[in-house]
Amino acid sequence: MSEKNIVILGAGPGGYVAAIRAAQLGAKVTVIEDAEVGGTCLNRGCIPTKTLVATAEVYEKVKDSSDFGIDIAGAATVNVPKIMERQGKVISTLVKGIKGLFKMHGIQLVEGRGVFVDRNTIEVTARDGSKQTIKAETVIIATGSHPAEIPTFPFDGEKIISSDDAICFAAVPKRLIIIGAGVIGCEFACIFKTLGAEEVTMIEMMPRCLSTEDFEISDLMARELKKKKIKLITNAKVEKVTVNSDGTVTASLEGAEPVTADQVLVSIGRALNSKGIGLEEIGVKLGRRGDILVNEYMETDVPGVYAIGDVVGGIMLAHVASTEGLTAVHNIMKGNTKKMDYSVVPAGIFTLPEIGSVGLREQDAQAKGIAVKTGHFQLRGLGKAQAMNELAGMVKVVADAATDKVLGVHIMGAHSTDYIHEAAVAMKMGATAMQVAETIHSHPTLAEAVMEAMEDVHGMAIHVPPAK
Ligand code: FAD
Repeated sequence: MSEKNIVILGAGPGGYVAAIRAAQLGAKVTVIEDAEVGGTCLNRGCIPTKTLVATAEVYEKVKDSSDFGIDIAGAATVNVPKIMERQGKVISTLVKGIKGLFKMHGIQLVEGRGVFVDRNTIEVTARDGSKQTIKAETVIIATGSHPAEIPTFPFDGEKIISSDDAICFAAVPKRLIIIGAGVIGCEFACIFKTLGAEEVTMIEMMPRCLSTEDFEISDLMARELKKKKIKLITNAKVEKVTVNSDGTVTASLEGAEPVTADQVLVSIGRALNSKGIGLEEIGVKLGRRGDILVNEYMETDVPGVYAIGDVVGGIMLAHVASTEGLTAVHNIMKGNTKKMDYSVVPAGIFTLPEIGSVGLREQDAQAKGIAVKTGHFQLRGLGKAQAMNELAGMVKVVADAATDKVLGVHIMGAHSTDYIHEAAVAMKMGATAMQVAETIHSHPTLAEAVMEAMEDVHGMAIHVPPAK
């Protein structure tokens, strides 16, 4: 076993997963964390938002309970302090879990902000101002990202808020403007509208919401937003946000009428945590967005200094950060022998209903001149979806026209973020649409929709009317 000494800067899903794997492989591991282990994901991102989504789903179900034959006397009401308490408990359970794993693996956690002094030395400043120096043979930079702000109307934490502020609220905002109809914006729109916001208006510069998704899925989401009475203004740029004397806020738009609300949530993307940590001084090269440049082994230009996660600016998802972390650790421990593989990356969007997707979108195929066949299946055609009263959504398969290989699968519908992984495994194994279609799927399940959509690639789905 190697006795490598690895220092990891940042304990988000990139850094903490890398730390545990490095310890498993016999390294001496030190993790430096400025805030709380778990990073954005556990403390301000994936987990707090999904806790809120779960609450919104319960509220929706309770309101619809009479459809299921359950009559509830009196109205269901939203108890915000209780929602926050539950969210806090979920986060602290998970944070404690990681700290416990660190202890069990003998990983040293140093609390404070780390800055490179030289290639092998990191100075850590704790909250109380005390400093210590950590020596590092090999370093993994996993410092993540923070909400990007618009300089002309910066966050004030009250009227102009970021996703960090939005996860923690004292009351559901009555009228909310969301700038940016990407993943985070759409998730918050669904959360707040479901929990009782009277008006939610999303403003998006692009011609559509969720513009990174397959266009059929993003169109379907636009329809779902409309059903929820969430207003979506596209092709509009916010020029200015003014806090009015009555406490309201007005967003002035280029290309549309101004919108007034009680709060503005700015969700236009993430800025990378690569500044002020001594990277330039030690020769680590940055890209245009401040993204740390790494090779396929996750190593920077400085030998022995690796970087992973949001701060490398690729696919900014927790599971990608973790996989990059595992790849970096493998390469530190076993020489640079494992390339980071981005060929199959499933992604979840936790709107109501949610979206699970993996691989090529149809518009990508068109842009790249790849001939594809598609298959569709509407969830309402499934027994399980009817039983659950979860009728919204569909599965779309994009398959290579010549080889029938599955190139992409895009699902909108309840629990799709869980069963998208069937498609991910199929793609990783190079399966064809016919092979997935011929795999027996258990009945009644939502995953049967994947089988039917794969059959539909060949015009053979059972629960679909024949083509005219
Ligand atoms: P981070 O999680 O940002 O962790 C970096 C850590 O480094 C932080 O704890 C920070 O305090 C620490 N740090 C920074 N600088 C220093 C320093 N100099 N010294 C010491 N410590 C330092 N992704 C998904 O896959 N699924 C989702 O559902 C999802 N939902 C999201 C919802 C929201 C609202 C947001 C904001 C993000 C969401 N994400 C989601 C994205 C996901 O959170 C990130 O991709 C992921 O956290 C990146 O992990 P990371 O380890 O690279 O960085």
